[in-house]
Amino acid sequence: MSQYDLLIIGGGPSGLSAGIYAARANLKTLIIERGILGGQIANTDLVENYPGFPEIITGPQLTELFEKQATKFGVEIEYTEVREITKKGELFLVKTSDDEEYTSHAVILSTGSDPNKLQVPGEKEFAGKGVSYCAVCDANFFRDLVVAVAGGGDAAVEEGLYLTKFVKKLYIIHRRDELRAQKIIQDRAFKNPKVEFVWDSVVTKVFGDKLMKGLEVKNVKTGEQKELECDGLFVYIGSTPNSCLVTLPVKKDSIGHIITNEYMETKTPGLYAIGDLRKCPLRQIVTAASDGAIAAQYAEKYIESLAFESESS
Ligand code: NAP
Repeated sequence: MSQYDLLIIGGGPSGLSAGIYAARANLKTLIIERGILGGQIANTDLVENYPGFPEIITGPQLTELFEKQATKFGVEIEYTEVREITKKGELFLVKTSDDEEYTSHAVILSTGSDPNKLQVPGEKEFAGKGVSYCAVCDANFFRDLVVAVAGGGDAAVEEGLYLTKFVKKLYIIHRRDELRAQKIIQDRAFKNPKVEFVWDSVVTKVFGDKLMKGLEVKNVKTGEQKELECDGLFVYIGSTPNSCLVTLPVKKDSIGHIITNEYMETKTPGLYAIGDLRKCPLRQIVTAASDGAIAAQYAEKYIESLAFESESS
């Protein structure tokens, strides 16, 4: 069993930022990541709004810098999946899928969120055969082809614009007649000659044979159903927080975001939640990094208070 002061579950921007602050505060810190570092930004092409980078930086490049900075200060990183988090007395016990066990005085949850699925016929069947949830990973397979994006938020429009560098034509299928994405991103999409909007519409079916060949799309205002021939579908309709793992007492909203106070504290002393997992008004890399800094700072104070209590008892 390995012992740490602080365990951070999830290595996205919030977790890595927490790691930087914790290690600089001399906490023995381990980040446990089940996939690749960077969370959602690992699948993001261009990051234009993270302060300090006036020249455009990609999500993977920014992740690499976060990681370099964290490990420079002594953060350790393990790649495995956490199965269970329990607490006995003042000590947390974390068990992983490879049967490792870790103890710590505090745990920061930064498990982010997973992309939502459309849950329509053919989506599962053609996943990896036309249907994708990551433009940065798969755009190259769609050179000079016709693809569609489902969604109208920042991710749909930004990643759609990235796809236009590869594809011949891009449909953006949105369930309303107004985008949710930031104005600056909307304007770029409206000006892009490769983009055609399919307003007030939802995808109802993905069809094809060996590979995807098109979509059935329904206009939600008129009820009209039509077929759209295309070779790919990128789904960007929001995400669901990865909070199922948490069985310790925490407050959640109806979607599953963990509700914290301003110090990122949950209802369980020593347990913090940050980044996309947390209920918050803005989800950006800069806010995730800020969450991480605050959680690490207050985790340090919490751990100090435990040491003080045990010394004085
Ligand atoms: P989002 O902002 O929640 O947008 C989801 C989009 O999908 C909305 O347009 C929504 O339509 C649509 N949608 C949801 N469920 C649907 C369904 N079942 N069928 C069809 N359409 C559906 O999610 P996101 O774009 O992934 O962004 C998540 C967070 O990350 C946001 O806070 C965003 O600002 C942030 N983000 C920021 C940047 C950036 O700043 N550059 C980049 C990416 C993400 P409605 O509009 O009708 O609800």
